[in-house]
Amino acid sequence: MPGPKRILILGGTTEARALAVRLLALGHDVTTSLAGVTSRPILPAGKLRKGGFGGADGLAEHIAVSQTEMLIDATHPFAAQMSAHAAEAAKRVGLPLMRLERPEWKPQQGANWVVVNSMVEAAASLPQQARVLVTTGRKQLGALFMRSDLSGVVRVVEALQTDLPAQWQQILDRPPYEVGQEQALLASHRMTHLISKNAGGESTAAKLEAARLLNVGVVMLRRPTKPPCATFATVDDLVAQLGSAGLAG
Ligand code: NAP
Repeated sequence: MPGPKRILILGGTTEARALAVRLLALGHDVTTSLAGVTSRPILPAGKLRKGGFGGADGLAEHIAVSQTEMLIDATHPFAAQMSAHAAEAAKRVGLPLMRLERPEWKPQQGANWVVVNSMVEAAASLPQQARVLVTTGRKQLGALFMRSDLSGVVRVVEALQTDLPAQWQQILDRPPYEVGQEQALLASHRMTHLISKNAGGESTAAKLEAARLLNVGVVMLRRPTKPPCATFATVDDLVAQLGSAGLAG
């Protein structure tokens, strides 16, 4: 049915915020949902709700109670659980699901990548005495910290809740980052390796170019598989699809 819709965006990404702005401008009633794990999140335009739904059941109930008419999964490519719950809940309540997901990064010529499936594999792939910049977040660092020959920096938006082994330090920072800044960080800490999720997008891509220029090895975590649904790489693509379905507002 054409006209304004009550839309729930599962957010936590730059793209989700951009999408909220566009959909509001088109006259839709937009609510963004955040997990509530970041203490100082950048807030989206429109309405906001925070915290888990309580699994697929909870999300299905929320959709029914809030009379949501359209569900858009704009979570981070590594938020696999939320995307699985979204697919399950959408199926249960008979709502179409759209996903906004930025394309993966690809290695540029001269880049030295090893692609792995987990932080355990990432830790195992590193040579003895490697000095590592870790940019994968606060979770699953145990396998790295178990190796007493490794050292380096864990860069996080939100401080780690546990003490780090003595040969590691944490840096608190948030994107966007620039190539020069990333080169300076890699060089000043004499890094030999960088561990990254294949998050894609512009705001954190500079580290990959910096690593390529400095011949720092990249250990790249492969994305988790998400349930199939109509997926769009950009806000423009998704909004164009809404337009062609008569739902642009
Ligand atoms: P996850 O493992 O897929 O989800 C864990 C649980 O957190 C979900 O089952 C859900 O709880 C709740 N949750 C996640 N996203 C939510 C949202 N947008 N609104 C309401 N509840 C949400 O997710 P994650 O990897 O921890 O990521 C959490 C949030 O941070 C996501 O919104 C994601 O977009 C953002 N983020 C993640 C990463 C990353 O690297 N994973 C990076 C940047 C931003 P219930 O089961 O109780 O509903």
